[in-house]
Amino acid sequence: MKDLFTKNEIFELSSHIDASQKILISTHAHPDGDAIGSSLAMLAYLQSKGKTAYIVLPDALSDNLLFAIPPTLAQFVLIYIDNKEFLQNEFCADTLISLDYNNISRCNELEALLRDFKGRKILIDHHLKPDRDYFDTVISTENVSSTAELLFWVLRDLGLEDMSGTIGEALMLGMTSDSNNFANSVFPTTLEMASILIAQGIDRDALLEKIFKSQRENRYRLLGYILSEKLKIKNNFAIIVLLKEEMERFGTKNGETEGFVNIPLDIETIKMCIFVREDQQKFRVSVRSKKGVSANNFAAKYCNGGGHFQAAGGSLVIGEDIARAEDLYEYLEHSAEAFFNEE
Ligand code: 5GP
Ligand code: MN
Repeated sequence: MKDLFTKNEIFELSSHIDASQKILISTHAHPDGDAIGSSLAMLAYLQSKGKTAYIVLPDALSDNLLFAIPPTLAQFVLIYIDNKEFLQNEFCADTLISLDYNNISRCNELEALLRDFKGRKILIDHHLKPDRDYFDTVISTENVSSTAELLFWVLRDLGLEDMSGTIGEALMLGMTSDSNNFANSVFPTTLEMASILIAQGIDRDALLEKIFKSQRENRYRLLGYILSEKLKIKNNFAIIVLLKEEMERFGTKNGETEGFVNIPLDIETIKMCIFVREDQQKFRVSVRSKKGVSANNFAAKYCNGGGHFQAAGGSLVIGEDIARAEDLYEYLEHSAEAFFNEE
């Protein structure tokens, strides 16, 4: 048993699963590779135990992650908005398993359904500050690369040795995307997990092709524009603000700006990068930092968000947080200056 959870937590989880018939698996809004990977692995595991289970996503998966869903599982992956009736009335789950978020506020519109959920609530996650008041069973640690990695060790303790199929592929996806292909948050257990999965035959090369080598040209044209026109560097931080109109101009799809926030951190003097993009009624914020600088604190204090120490996010609303979109650079610049003065 790894030092990531207690025997008692595994016992509670396994008793809850055994006693359940209908299980709802939920993950955060704007699901990333870890969110969908850990959810699919859990779904496949529960099905192998003869359970009825559905994954509910607060909103659609971006196109570049659709490859992750095996055709046989597609009918069990529901988008909340499109399946409201079914999830509110017909599918009365007795158990909720929440993956890759610490608080139901991360689930946007799905939050209302979760708030009223009457069954048992289980959390498996790797973010700071899990909501222990809401969940009945909490398996949470920051000492892993990803929820997928934590789930890998949980499933092994539940007796699952062979992960050569869908489960292993989904967990490898989650770990690889959250660690940005072993660039961040890599622990000895992360490499151990990868080693076991590769030994079991999981095709990492094929996965890397799908995650990192299947982009469209537009993404790189947009990146060129961002680096030449939109990247602002001040002191030891970088800011990028991207408007809807600019993304439309480059035909940018949902999820296609993934990873851009990391690029300015390649510059020696840059300690933190704040990447803001317009999305429906608000601006979504991504923050990344180098060791010793808390992206989480910045996102929490200035962007209504949070996350991990070096990778966090949040949102800003025009008319509430700032008067006009044109003021975003200035707001973020002043906030970052204040932040580094306090640090
Ligand atoms: P990303 O920049 O990739 O969207 O998000 C990075 C991390 O920041 C996520 O793994 C998540 O932990 C956190 N995060 C992103 N958006 C939000 C948000 O709106 N609120 C909070 N609390 N955390 C967020
Ligand atoms: Mn994650």
